[in-house]
Amino acid sequence: MIRLVLIGGGHAHVQVLAALARQPFADCEVTLISPFPRQIYSGMLPGWIAGHYSIEQCAIPIVDLARRSGVRFIESACTALDIESKRAHCANGEIVAFDAVSIDSGPIVDLGSVPGILENAIPIRPIEGFVAVWPSMLERARHNNAYTLSIVGDGAAGTELAFAIQERFTIEQLTHARVILIGGSKLALTGLPERLRDAALSLLKQRNIEHLGERPASAFLPGRVRLSDASEIACDASLVVTGAAAPLWPAASGMACDANGFIRVTATLQSISHRFVFAAGDVAAYAEPRPKSGVFAVRAGPLLADNLRAYCTGRTLCRWNSQKNALYLISTGKRHALAAWGPLSIGGDWVWRWKDRIDRRFMQRFT
Ligand SMILES: Cc1cc2nc3c(=O)[nH]c(=O)nc-3n(C[C@H](O)[C@H](O)[C@H](O)COP(=O)(O)OP(=O)(O)OC[C@H]3O[C@@H](n4cnc5c(N)ncnc54)[C@H](O)[C@@H]3O)c2cc1C
Repeated sequence: MIRLVLIGGGHAHVQVLAALARQPFADCEVTLISPFPRQIYSGMLPGWIAGHYSIEQCAIPIVDLARRSGVRFIESACTALDIESKRAHCANGEIVAFDAVSIDSGPIVDLGSVPGILENAIPIRPIEGFVAVWPSMLERARHNNAYTLSIVGDGAAGTELAFAIQERFTIEQLTHARVILIGGSKLALTGLPERLRDAALSLLKQRNIEHLGERPASAFLPGRVRLSDASEIACDASLVVTGAAAPLWPAASGMACDANGFIRVTATLQSISHRFVFAAGDVAAYAEPRPKSGVFAVRAGPLLADNLRAYCTGRTLCRWNSQKNALYLISTGKRHALAAWGPLSIGGDWVWRWKDRIDRRFMQRFT
């Protein structure tokens, strides 16, 4: 009997659970460690904020999925891996022994560097944390005469959240509430095609969202954010949506990680230093680098499931041959969205309907 432990119920692991539900791995006892009984699908989170979906429509009930898959569920976070004695330590004190372990625990928001960030800002991750506080943020916006929300981080996620929050304010006729999007580069959405970035910038203006580019936040103070040019923005709340950082525990375990702490894996999704460790999603540094995005975490899922099955049953593992480009779909409010594929980009209401269909279809696989 092989003991396989899955750490995190991320985009790749939900597909491993679905594969186990279809056909269990022979002679294998599987345990899932996850701090939450459900996985909020980030692609639909802006739609929940805007009021298009209920939170249940955006949540994969991983505890039910685990039960259907015959997987033991531990509701806790992994805090450390003892790689030599093959044990996972959990925040609730449980210690779980394994023969093989797979990690899809996602990224964290880097809260270390900017003064005041821990005390005076709300990180977007863990997403459950944001989901818990958003209703009270909205309630304050409804009851204050003036309300300003600053979003620090103008990448795809921060920009999409700005559009979603502004849309919610508009739907609720909160004309006194405004959103300010703060970022380090001139245009928002770094890394995406310039035409899409131009289109996003013009839509931000149309929707009355102020974009302060080229001025990253340098400090979070009570009721205000200081920018790199020393100017200060008064705001009622600050949401931090800066890029994906690695949790500390994988590198602390002694596994080979890249300079940023992401787990280095081979094309078979095995740790380059410990072949009984697998990793996928944003926590992994792939042999052929891919952007940190849900799209690639989803793409890694089927191969991860096949390779875990092969490893546990002594068969040959396959190599990941993922395409380089991913389709990026960014909702921009008013049931309109922008799409980018490599250098190409397009926008329209039909793009939003396309995104809506893709997201709902993905969720149907697990609910
Ligand atoms: C608002 C927003 C919108 C986004 N929209 C898109 C989009 O439209 N398209 C796209 O491609 N990307 C999008 N992204 C990026 C996307 O969310 C990430 O790239 C994606 O979630 C990475 O998937 P993952 O499986 O690696 O990790 P995650 O989806 O973060 O899943 C990790 C899971 O592991 C759990 N976990 C965390 N720590 C531990 C631990 N120590 N022990 C056990 N379990 C743990 C978490 O609770 C979570 O359930 C968006 C991000 C945000 C914030």
